[in-house]
Amino acid sequence: MSECLFCGIVKGEIKGNLVYQDNSVVAFKDINPKAPVHLLIVPRKHIATLLDLQQEDTSLIGDVFNAANQLARDQGIAKNGFRVVVNCGAGAGQSVFHLHFHLLGGRPMVWPPG
Ligand code: AMP
Ligand code: ZN
Repeated sequence: MSECLFCGIVKGEIKGNLVYQDNSVVAFKDINPKAPVHLLIVPRKHIATLLDLQQEDTSLIGDVFNAANQLARDQGIAKNGFRVVVNCGAGAGQSVFHLHFHLLGGRPMVWPPG
């Protein structure tokens, strides 16, 4: 059993509400959604935080944003605008230490974020 929650979901040890998967990323519904559409796009590879990204992970970031675009279109939030967010570190609100990208949409977004 994985010690990391998102590794557990990626490996299928823990049930996630999956909406997308490819060779490098999976996406599933956030359990505590902050918008009508709130998905988490998660690299299969365990990387704890954005700061832990290595040079070799560069292509992974392209895979994440390709998935984000496809999901935004599929979920019907592309036209009205959506947001992709990474919380890096506890001070920024990161609570799960496996790199993930929040895809949020389906409601007006304010700026700056809290
Ligand atoms: P962050 O606070 O940026 O680390 O984001 C972690 C996100 O994971 C939060 O929005 C949580 O609601 C979400 N979350 C925690 N546990 C689960 C789970 N088992 N399945 C789906 N989402 C989860
Ligand atoms: Zn992990």
